[in-house]
Amino acid sequence: MKIVSVLIEHATLSLDRPFTYLYDGDKSLQKGMRVFVRFGNQDVVGYIEGVQESKLSKEDIDEKFGMTLSYVVSILDDEPLLNAELLDLAEQSAKYFMAPKIAVLQAMLPRSLRPSSSTFKSPKIAYETYVECLDSSEEGLTLKQIELLRLIAANGPILKKECGTASVLEKLLQAGRVRLFKKERQRFKLDDFEQVPPFPLTPEQQQAFDDILSSEKPVILLQGVTGSGKTEVYLHLSDEVMKQGKTILMLVPEISLTPMMVAYFARRFQNKVAILHSGLTPAEKYDEYRRIARGEAQIVVGARSAVFAPLENIGLILIDEEHVESYKQDSTPYYHARDIAIMRGKYHHAKVILGSATPSLETKARARNGVYGYARLEQRVHQNPLPRTKIIDLTQQNAFPRGSERLFSNDLLHALQDRLDKKEQAMLLINHRGYSSFIECSKCGHVFSCPSCQCSLTYHQQDEMLKCHRCGYVEQYPHVCPDCGNEKLRRVGFGTERVVKYLQEHFPTARIARLDSDISKVRKKAEETLAAFKEGSYDFLVGTQMIAKGHDFPNVTLVGVLLADIGLSMPSYRSSENTFQLLTQVVGRAGRGDKNGEAFIQTYNPSHYAISLGASQDYERFYAREMQMRHTLEYPPFVYLLIVECSSKNEENAAETALNLKIDLQNQGFEGMTILGPSTPYFGFLNGVYKKRLLIKSRDMKPIKAYLEEVYRNIDGQNGVRLRFDVDPLDC
Ligand code: ADP
Ligand code: ZN
Repeated sequence: MKIVSVLIEHATLSLDRPFTYLYDGDKSLQKGMRVFVRFGNQDVVGYIEGVQESKLSKEDIDEKFGMTLSYVVSILDDEPLLNAELLDLAEQSAKYFMAPKIAVLQAMLPRSLRPSSSTFKSPKIAYETYVECLDSSEEGLTLKQIELLRLIAANGPILKKECGTASVLEKLLQAGRVRLFKKERQRFKLDDFEQVPPFPLTPEQQQAFDDILSSEKPVILLQGVTGSGKTEVYLHLSDEVMKQGKTILMLVPEISLTPMMVAYFARRFQNKVAILHSGLTPAEKYDEYRRIARGEAQIVVGARSAVFAPLENIGLILIDEEHVESYKQDSTPYYHARDIAIMRGKYHHAKVILGSATPSLETKARARNGVYGYARLEQRVHQNPLPRTKIIDLTQQNAFPRGSERLFSNDLLHALQDRLDKKEQAMLLINHRGYSSFIECSKCGHVFSCPSCQCSLTYHQQDEMLKCHRCGYVEQYPHVCPDCGNEKLRRVGFGTERVVKYLQEHFPTARIARLDSDISKVRKKAEETLAAFKEGSYDFLVGTQMIAKGHDFPNVTLVGVLLADIGLSMPSYRSSENTFQLLTQVVGRAGRGDKNGEAFIQTYNPSHYAISLGASQDYERFYAREMQMRHTLEYPPFVYLLIVECSSKNEENAAETALNLKIDLQNQGFEGMTILGPSTPYFGFLNGVYKKRLLIKSRDMKPIKAYLEEVYRNIDGQNGVRLRFDVDPLDC
């Protein structure tokens, strides 16, 4: 008889402990295999934590445990899914991020191998299902259905899995508006890339390369201005490490927005590269995963979750644009890929390179203190200067064409005309999608807001709807005010759609593309738009921060930021840092080829240091300034942060649990600890669930975490209140 300890698939803190089952069959059970077990009155997927042989009979074992144990229902795997390193990593990460271990395991594995019942609903198929519009009439449909129908009609055929909620699509199928058809899945083909020989490094790149290789530090910050050729340094380092017979893990913020980086690696290393990205079907992901696990790929390129790729013998981990927030997962287990990478680097004695033009303050501070090594690139490869920038004060009426809204200043309009004449390209950043920011009744001031989360609704002209950018609620554009019946509704503020329309009216001959998350919802649209822009099929590219990520467009000589302040109003201690980074990145898109670049930044806060220093790309001064601020206000990197979130359908219960926890923690007398809250987070009410949170600050979080670890299991789930931890949170 075997006594088996099993983690079950439900990722809550109160169930974060092994449950005991018995096995009497003749298969060999090992730690890391999945099983079906009975839990409550359901069969759930479990994950074997440990196996123990016993000579006792079932009766004796039951007596020893003081309960009737049940048998494992069935065994799902023939061998463990994770090797010893990854099992150990799961343990370490769960501990550091205070997350249920099963949640970490689920995050580590591709969907089809995940210890979770939901994976068995998605069969491993070699084809994909598409949806096509048959009839676009909207009679008798609900709003959600209309929204989807319009998406399919405008972009179809599209993949079924891009259609969101299954029930909405189901209704459209029943109503005969759309049909499904199957097509063989498209493989992500690497053979399309022609192999190109490496550029010889410039002297500065060579120096950075040598500094990195000779550094004794395991983690090294590579700080290089935009256009300084960090990628080439990554490629040469990879070559070197590959020669030593070791493997390489390369992380990028988001695959679809960094096709260039992927292409560089794919070209240079051909079929030695495996690419893990969200566009892969579950079957493809499974194939890639197994290929990596079998040791058939020496380099893995991927976004956040690729940090768990089952590579062995890792010699180098590269994290490009290390400051980008998407490296931190914004749901349980809330891990940060940088921390995981460093854990893996330690295990493999591999070098971890953090690359950025605008490193996060935490990373920069560690590099300055000598915790991390440091290498830098100060010149652009093509020797051209950083773009000339001009800040335009939005409060100055005369900076704008008479009688117009403050959308495009005279200077920016002139510059755009100039680029059209010269056949050069421009990028325009507006960090809001849709048409307007909100809709207001011109008579009574009624603002249309979301009934489920109270955010104001954005008008989308493309499908004539009002949408909540938080929870996805939609309604038809109303045309009249529900309060006073007035027909004049004001569209206040502007988003990407509005900007495109304005440009089209002003520059009728210009070819204009738009890129935001409405566009990138449809597979490959983002990549296609970027590729077409690079080829010169468009003159102007209008987009949200998506256009700021490390693209290299040699013919872009103008960048316009229409409203630089949007990020500053976010309720986060990182809002200045984010604004600075965004401006630096987007301004850095201009003048990367052999022509000089120019940038215009429109703002209501021209004297804010994040804006003025972002415009001049002065990282070092921004760093000094922001560090002072963080020091005064007690934020990272001077303290560690931890959020405890209590959520419940009952608002009072959530608040009470949070308050009790705060009092309890304070009674423990942790030295130098500050607790803010309980407070309601920015999005404190969603789909019937209220959230309250405590923000804990301390220079030494370890004892506090240890204490919470010990008590939280008793609290999670009590009074209908769920508990969650976010270690080193970014949005607070
Ligand atoms: P970064 O990521 O630092 O902003 P990139 O890696 O995109 O910069 O490099 C900018 C441009 O310079 C790219 O077009 C790249 O191909 C080119 N480049 C980089 N290194 C070299 C080199 N050693 N010789 C010639 N061109 C280079
Ligand atoms: Zn909403």
